[in-house]
Amino acid sequence: MQIVTSIAEMRRLTRDYARRGLTVGFVPTMGALHAGHLSLVARSRRECDITIASIFVNPLQFAANEDYARYPRTFHDDSRQLESAGVTALFAPSADEMYPAGSNGNPENFLVQPGPLGSRLDGASRPGHFTGVATVVAKLFHIVAPTRAYFGQKDAAQVAVLRRMVRDLNFDVELVACPIIREADGLAMSSRNRYLSPAERRDALVLHRAIGNAAMLYMMGESSADALIAAAQTEFALTPAARIDYITLVDPDTLLPLKQAAPGALFAVAAYLGNTRLIDNWLIGQEL
Ligand code: AMP
Repeated sequence: MQIVTSIAEMRRLTRDYARRGLTVGFVPTMGALHAGHLSLVARSRRECDITIASIFVNPLQFAANEDYARYPRTFHDDSRQLESAGVTALFAPSADEMYPAGSNGNPENFLVQPGPLGSRLDGASRPGHFTGVATVVAKLFHIVAPTRAYFGQKDAAQVAVLRRMVRDLNFDVELVACPIIREADGLAMSSRNRYLSPAERRDALVLHRAIGNAAMLYMMGESSADALIAAAQTEFALTPAARIDYITLVDPDTLLPLKQAAPGALFAVAAYLGNTRLIDNWLIGQEL
C-alpha cells in the first residue's frame, strides 16, 4: 500500500489509474478505524479495480467547541489495517496541504454550501458542519477522481447532503451508501465510542434500544411518526444519563419530517452521553 501525503502525488496516481482504464473506489475517513470503515473498504474492493482510502481529520467540519484537537489519531494502526484490507493507496494529507490558506476562521476561503439541507438533522445541532463536510469531500473527489465513493448509512444526513452535492454540482462519481456495522450488543460502531466511560458505554445502548422499540411498534402495524418517536423516548426515560438531541422520522433525501412511517423513511436518533454525541438510525424496511 502506497501512503501519499501530497495532492500532486495523489493526482499523478489517479491519472495513471484513469489512463490504464481502472475503476477507482474511494473510502474517505477521519481515521481511528473500526470494522465499520473496513466494511466500506471491503465493498469497494468487491466492486472496483483499485481502492483508495483517505485519512484526514477535517478541521473545517468541527465547530470551535467540538473535539477536533482531541479526536483520536491512530495513524500507525489505521494504515496497518488498511494495508491488510487490501487498499492500494492511502491518501493522508496534512491540514496545511488541504488548506494552505488556513481552514477555520479564514473568511476568504471558498466553501461548498449545502443549502437548507445542511441545517437539518445533525446540521441543526452542528451549524456549519455540513459546509465543512461538503467542502472537504468536493476537494477529495477532485483529487482522487473516484468512479465510486463509499459512505456509511450511520451518517444518514451526511449521505443526503453528499448525494445532493453530487447531483446538483454534477460530480462524475457514484455514491454508495453502506449498512451500519454494529458491536455485538447493538451499539453502532463509531470512532467516538472510545471516548465513553464504562458507564457511558452501557448507557449508549439506549440509542439502539430506542430505535428497536420504535421498530417493534412499526412491525406491529403502527405507522404514526408521533407514536414511534414516543416509543423511542420511553427508552430514553429509562436512561436519564443520556440526553436526547433529536429523535425524528424524516425523508432520507430532504431530511424533512414525515408524519407517517413507510418503507424507505429514515428513523434517526442523536444523543449525548456525557460530552460525547452519538448517532444511530434505521432505514425502514431494512434490517436493524
Ligand atoms: P468517519 O471516519 O467517522 O468520518 O467515517 C468515515 C466513513 O465511515 C463515513 O462514511 C461513515 O459513515 C462510515 N462509518 C462510520 N461508522 C460506521 C459504521 N458503524 N458502519 C458503517 N459505516 C460507518
